[in-house]
Amino acid sequence: MIPTDIFNFDTLVVGGGIAGLQTALDLGDQGYKVAVVEKDASIGGKMIRLSKVFPTLDCASCITTPKMSAVAHHENITLFTYCELNSLDYDGSGEFQGMKALITQKPRYVDPVKCIGCRQCEYVCPVHIPDMEQGGLSATKAISIPFSNAIPQLPIMDIENCMLCGQCEKACPTNAIDYLQKPEEFLIASKTAVVTTGFDLLPVKDNTQYGNGKIPNVIDSLQMERLLAPHGPYNRVLRPSDGMEPDSIAYVQCAGSRDKSMGVSYCSRVCCMYAIKQAMLLSGSLPLADITIYYMDIRAFGKGYEQFYQNAKAMGIEFIKAKVARIDRGENGSAQVRYELQDGSGTATANHDLVVLSMGMVPGWNPEQPVCPVSKDTDQFITSIKPKISPVLTDMDGLFVAGAAAGPKDIVDTITESGSAAMEAAKFMSKSLMEN
Ligand SMILES: Cc1cc2nc3c(=O)[nH]c(=O)nc-3n(C[C@H](O)[C@H](O)[C@H](O)COP(=O)(O)OP(=O)(O)OC[C@H]3O[C@@H](n4cnc5c(N)ncnc54)[C@H](O)[C@@H]3O)c2cc1C
Repeated sequence: MIPTDIFNFDTLVVGGGIAGLQTALDLGDQGYKVAVVEKDASIGGKMIRLSKVFPTLDCASCITTPKMSAVAHHENITLFTYCELNSLDYDGSGEFQGMKALITQKPRYVDPVKCIGCRQCEYVCPVHIPDMEQGGLSATKAISIPFSNAIPQLPIMDIENCMLCGQCEKACPTNAIDYLQKPEEFLIASKTAVVTTGFDLLPVKDNTQYGNGKIPNVIDSLQMERLLAPHGPYNRVLRPSDGMEPDSIAYVQCAGSRDKSMGVSYCSRVCCMYAIKQAMLLSGSLPLADITIYYMDIRAFGKGYEQFYQNAKAMGIEFIKAKVARIDRGENGSAQVRYELQDGSGTATANHDLVVLSMGMVPGWNPEQPVCPVSKDTDQFITSIKPKISPVLTDMDGLFVAGAAAGPKDIVDTITESGSAAMEAAKFMSKSLMEN
């Protein structure tokens, strides 16, 4: 059945991470009507889930929340969160007439109009489930607002784990609980679109050499971001398996990057810098801990990044130029790291209380036909047709790309690209206006 609800905008931004937020603000401030479609229950992307950001060590939440709020309150921007993008293509024959996106609003089982975000439903819910917003390291309720500064402040119900006990329904002061809510499809028609769907980390469970996610206290870098964050799962850095304060922490760099057999062949670009950042933050919160970074090369490519690396060395963080070949269970919850030194002097093993894997970055969205005909590179990120002079142009007229959707990148480059995508979209719309 073709959905009857059609919303018209100048630009559709797909993805509400920092790239999508910046693009939407840059267009909205110029008077364009923008729709932001986000698959998660809150906007903010990876950045709102980080602890602090290199190279300035600003609090990530302190600089992302104002942007999220500016987008949510902008008169020209409309947010569609917890929505699945089913297709994005030209509207009509294929010759450019604007874009059309088919979207499904996933059920929250909460009426967004009635809900006042008071969290009474969450407080009374008796079911605890792993909190994926905290990397699965702590628990949340089967109905909950995803995190304290989520936007919008609406809970979602995990219907798979809900016992249907009715306690949330009884506690809700506005009768907002709706167990019978169904997915709803709608269309967005727009003159242009910007894809800002970001990245995901390769899952540890697919990595045999590093224990397929089954070795306790071997975590990925986003989980470590949560351990370091002010509102993290334990409010301090503790070992997940037994709550011990780790005395020895190791970083495994290029865990799945630059090695096709282990993940992806390209460099994920930000892992060196975030591992150095996390190591520095750890040496602040656990001053007595030994921190080791096993690396192949350090790629400190941005402004101020080399100095950041030198500072880390001066703080006593140990850098071992070695490729980690495998990780096994050690004694007392530790992990045994086997590595090959890059100077050819052989192999060695070391035990660490906690091991952080800098997993490779892969695209957050796969725009395959018939979902969206935009081309992808061999690395599966969206192709930029003019990578040097205008990296945000794709092979679809009127469709632009920004941020990690085009390839791994840091926040500085993401913000720059987002401004550029907004400018290209604005140029495109004013050109079409002049031609008609
Ligand atoms: C552990 C770690 C630490 C980092 N630390 C730093 C740091 O300190 N400093 C720094 O500069 N960089 C850092 N980075 C890099 C930083 O996270 C990225 O530069 C930034 O997140 C890119 O923003 P983005 O909006 O392009 O992508 P994302 O943050 O990935 O946002 C993409 C958004 O799109 C949504 N989305 C995906 N697919 C769809 C779809 N089909 N429909 C609708 N929505 C969709 C996602 O849910 C997400 O909200 C770090 C990265 C990692 C992994």
